[in-house]
Amino acid sequence: MAENVVTADEITAHLQCPRQYEFEHERPVSPPRTSDEDIADHRRETLRQSIIAGLRKDVESSDDRVYAAFDRFDQLWRSSRLPYLTDEQAQYDEAVVKRAIEQYLSNSGHEHAENLLATDTTLGYERDDIRYETTVDAIFEQENGYLAVRYVPDLNGVVKPWSDNNVQDFRNGREFYPHQIGTLARTAIAVRGLMDEYGLDPNCKFAYISLLDDSQSVYGSDEIHFEVEYRNLTVDYLDEKKEVNDLVANRARAILDGETDPKAWQFDEITDNSCSHCPYQNACPEYFESELAFTDRSQFQSESDESSDQPPARQPPAEENR
Ligand code: SF4
Repeated sequence: MAENVVTADEITAHLQCPRQYEFEHERPVSPPRTSDEDIADHRRETLRQSIIAGLRKDVESSDDRVYAAFDRFDQLWRSSRLPYLTDEQAQYDEAVVKRAIEQYLSNSGHEHAENLLATDTTLGYERDDIRYETTVDAIFEQENGYLAVRYVPDLNGVVKPWSDNNVQDFRNGREFYPHQIGTLARTAIAVRGLMDEYGLDPNCKFAYISLLDDSQSVYGSDEIHFEVEYRNLTVDYLDEKKEVNDLVANRARAILDGETDPKAWQFDEITDNSCSHCPYQNACPEYFESELAFTDRSQFQSESDESSDQPPARQPPAEENR
């Protein structure tokens, strides 16, 4: 087995910013977190683990499957101290997540469970001495093939079919959506991993299953209704297969070569789109440099304004402003 392992999470982080990747994966830095982020993470993990418990249960009826999932949900929810502002907010979230679990496992989830092959597992394959891996929440057998899935509360950050050339648009700076491109990279690894594990079947698929995206209160009652949404990215991946595979191999090589300088990756796009909400600003030398450049520039401009009888000051070239 190849010694070099690169995961879909690492590739996604590296697409976002090589320095962020370094902080997250090579010398982990704990960035400041908000209570909303803690709540969102806990909700996602509770949802995922409860559904997996329901899928695994060896039962005949979908009701029994829902009960098994609820048991796991109650253990996880009650054992945590979440920073909700009010009890009502906590109760509402609890009801919403339970309802979403019930709705999925009572319908398509029950059918999925009857064709379950694995849960909470890793798919991977090897190319050119590198092993590529991604975790998936479940794998199901389907007619003529296999389906690997990840459960998510919503589809934020999952690629949408915006264009026929998502990877090209990303690489030439026309669009900068690294998380979405990361979901294509994950799809590539999951689909190729499925083929590696289960054979060269053309119907190896990977999908995100969103459970809380489309929630609506039912008029005149306390009921909440959800539309479970599937985002099957297999076709999107196959449409740009060569570009996605090349990008995955390129970033894996950069990771293994220790490339963490964001100036060697789409730095204009990173400074324009990622730095302002990056949790690693306080540890980042490039951010610090760009802040100094910004301060110098402001001072420079105000001094220049005060002496308006002087010739206009030379503006630093764009490269110095980063
Ligand atoms: S502040 Fe900007 S350059 Fe630094 S790690 Fe974050 S995104 Fe990358």
